[in-house]
Amino acid sequence: MKTTRMDGASPTATRRAWHALESAEALERLESSENGLASDEAARRLEEHGANRLAPPAGKSPLLRFLSHFHNMLIYLLLVAAVVTALLGHWVDTGVIMGVVFINSFIGFMQEGKAERALDAIRNLLSLKAMLLRDGRKAPVPAEEIVPGDIVLLQSGDKVPADLRLIKAKNLRIDESILTGESVAASKHTDCAPEPAALGDQRSMAFSGTLVTYGQATGVVTATGEHTEIGRISAMLSDVEPLATPLIQKMSAFGRVLAVVIIGVAAVTFSIGVFVHSFPAGSTFLAAVSLAVAAIPEGLPAIMTITLSIGVQRMAGRHAIIRHLPAVDTLGAVTTICSDKTGTLTRNEMTARSVHLPDQRFAAEGVGYAPRGQLHLDGEAVGSPAEHPALLALLETGLLCNDASLREDQGQWHIDGDPTEGALLVLAQKAGLDPEALSEAHPRLDSIPFESEHRYMATLNGDGAGGTRICVKGAPERILDMCTAQGWGEDECALDRAYWEQVLDGEAQLGQRLLAVAYRTSEPDRSTLDMAVVEGGLTLLGVVGIIDPPRDEAIRAIAECQSAGIRVKMITGDHAATARAIGQELSIGDGKHALTGRDLDKMGDDELRKAVEETDIFARVDPEHKLRLVRAVQANGHVVAMTGDGVNDAPALKSADVGVAMGRRGTEVSKEASDMVLTDDNFASIAHAVEEGRTVYDNLRKAILFVLPASGGEALTIIAAVLLGWEEMPITPVQILWVNMVCSITLGIALAFEPPEKDVMRRPPRHPKANLLSSHFLWRISFVSALLCAGTFGVFLWALDKGADIEVARTAAVNTLVFFEVFYLFGVRHIHSSVLNFEGIFGNRVVLAAALTIVVAQLLYTYVPLSHTLFGTASLNPAFWAVILAVAAVVFVVVEMEKVILARIRFAKIS
Ligand code: ATP
Repeated sequence: MKTTRMDGASPTATRRAWHALESAEALERLESSENGLASDEAARRLEEHGANRLAPPAGKSPLLRFLSHFHNMLIYLLLVAAVVTALLGHWVDTGVIMGVVFINSFIGFMQEGKAERALDAIRNLLSLKAMLLRDGRKAPVPAEEIVPGDIVLLQSGDKVPADLRLIKAKNLRIDESILTGESVAASKHTDCAPEPAALGDQRSMAFSGTLVTYGQATGVVTATGEHTEIGRISAMLSDVEPLATPLIQKMSAFGRVLAVVIIGVAAVTFSIGVFVHSFPAGSTFLAAVSLAVAAIPEGLPAIMTITLSIGVQRMAGRHAIIRHLPAVDTLGAVTTICSDKTGTLTRNEMTARSVHLPDQRFAAEGVGYAPRGQLHLDGEAVGSPAEHPALLALLETGLLCNDASLREDQGQWHIDGDPTEGALLVLAQKAGLDPEALSEAHPRLDSIPFESEHRYMATLNGDGAGGTRICVKGAPERILDMCTAQGWGEDECALDRAYWEQVLDGEAQLGQRLLAVAYRTSEPDRSTLDMAVVEGGLTLLGVVGIIDPPRDEAIRAIAECQSAGIRVKMITGDHAATARAIGQELSIGDGKHALTGRDLDKMGDDELRKAVEETDIFARVDPEHKLRLVRAVQANGHVVAMTGDGVNDAPALKSADVGVAMGRRGTEVSKEASDMVLTDDNFASIAHAVEEGRTVYDNLRKAILFVLPASGGEALTIIAAVLLGWEEMPITPVQILWVNMVCSITLGIALAFEPPEKDVMRRPPRHPKANLLSSHFLWRISFVSALLCAGTFGVFLWALDKGADIEVARTAAVNTLVFFEVFYLFGVRHIHSSVLNFEGIFGNRVVLAAALTIVVAQLLYTYVPLSHTLFGTASLNPAFWAVILAVAAVVFVVVEMEKVILARIRFAKIS
């Protein structure tokens, strides 16, 4: 298509009142047509207008982000210390302190940037696709490639990918709250709106970023990227999430309080030194600063952020994309998972296995989508379906009321579209029908697409003889309610409902998914379809039984969840008997109990609360029931993860503690409402996410359990020295900085890479309200701190006693402290269980690498002359090392003994 600009500007450059133009005129001005653009023209326009994306929210400049790392209590304290040391003329100390301040801020800045980029990359995995008409054909295209003039097809659940002038709309309702703040979805049509109209009144437009909650439409793109209405509201776009979860926020708040307390303790220590022991103010001040620097766990926030970002990356690697970071904490506490059945617990590879007519049952051969195999009647292969007109009518109706297509790719057969419809398509092809010829002979005039809410699909087709026919397929109970007759042609008679109910029950017991097919002749001049027309006077042609086998990995994942104390509930739109049968294969429920949507309707809230404790299978439920179910399970004190894919699942997804949307099958509306999106729609991925959630929580706790005693041990050493009246500190301020900023952080970060513990899915979920600093934690932190203090101070005194110089004694003390941390790091790898096994010692390569790095660092610290100048260290002879390592190893032995003793006490309490 050649383009001549009508006004010399690009279509989006000038702002037009597109809503006030007739759709035909809008198409003309945008030099497009109802068949869409040609691909080469679209490519040309893409070059001209740029990608259809919004500029990322303007974040803080790198300089500001770097400087923000100086805005921290510890750094202020260090800056004061730098000034004091400078005033005292201790220039080396000043230089080291300033160096540490910069290095610390730089590392924080780099790590934060890395974590942010990793999370951004994960969010980008959820990029939007839109259904376009290009070259006259429907094709899904990445939303970024949309250009003005493109024709976009919308259906309920979609996110509008660009600003559109609607050219066709059917029952269209759009949630525009993101733009207008109006929470009720606006109904849309194609009529022109008056020229000056507020956004909310532009009913002939659909705006980028809004959500289609009902109906279908076609529109021509009028603006993309920053020229869209959403692109103009820059404020809306700065919703950058902080890198935090409730646990991390709690810890940062705790850290701030701790810092204030520590500065208070430092002030008291300073006063005791100066006023009780009459030490010189200058050196006592430095001791007080060392104390504060030692005790403030400055590395903890960085370690926690890294742990979180590694956890989120691991989840993404296992098909679970986290949209809201707080969900990572919650996942670890999940006690109930409510899952859809089709496609999540089952494979969603549907094969029709039986066809029930009023007086005959046909069986179909084959599995999967290959259209090979035959239909059998009473064990005899059926030759041509023409010999069985009633069967032919059912197969044809199932083909006309169908949007799926079948394709072969390198010998593999695939379905594009809904697998349930695919099963009917394959069945018809097995019987030798030609879908294309049929749809040419019976062109489709209108349709009502399938929605879980009404559970059927209907189409209006030409009947090949100048009249029209309504074709319907859907959930049998629903279709039976709409039928008055059954059978085909001369055999048509009144509906025998009891017979069909018996058939349905029998087939459903086999775990088959059931689909009823019905039709009605309609007025010759009818060209549109609505529910009132469809829902009555139909003739039932028959029922098709479809198998959809459970996923093997779901069976394993459910067993894993159950051993992890997590209850799995199945919530499905399918028949109760089908759900029970599949439930039994998956080990959900007891095979006897199942409640249906109708049962739920009859129950009050209290009754429902009781029922959800006893029942795990809920069948024939509507999306609204899901919301009630989530609330009832939550009211019983459970933490609920709930899956959903449809538009109407959004309220339940939002209410659940963790809303889980399906990345492949799910609508954009459900993804927007969720906390986590599964890229493979697979139940097993939820179980993996729970495992990773528990691991992240464990690793955050391990980081706390490692960092706090390390800080506590250093601080106690200094306090002890001052209280005992030692003027020469066992560790100087710069040495404390070395230990904290280099050793503790390097070792602590290694814990972020801890793999899941073996029993992580064998223990019950943690209590959602459990206190982070449990009594066990407080005990462990206190006794390890005391041990570190005693060892460090002890080695210092021992060295002095042996006649060593103060520099040698301090070097020995610092090495003792650092090796205490190295040994303790291994002990912390498992909070409760022993690490005295191969996995415990060698299971985390990052821990091994960190320990090795620290060994090298300490050798440099001890023997390199530059270190002697900077840190005031001195070389040690081998005898010192023997004592240092022997003392440091004590912490490992004692912590392992503590685990054994506590396990015995716990065991004794249980038995
Ligand atoms: P889930 O278990 O994930 O809730 P489901 O597939 O069991 O999903 P729905 O998708 O709501 O639940 O389907 C409910 C019923 O509607 C099915 O048992 C079937 O009878 C009918 N049905 C499903 N898909 C279609 C379709 N494309 N056209 C017509 N009827 C359908």
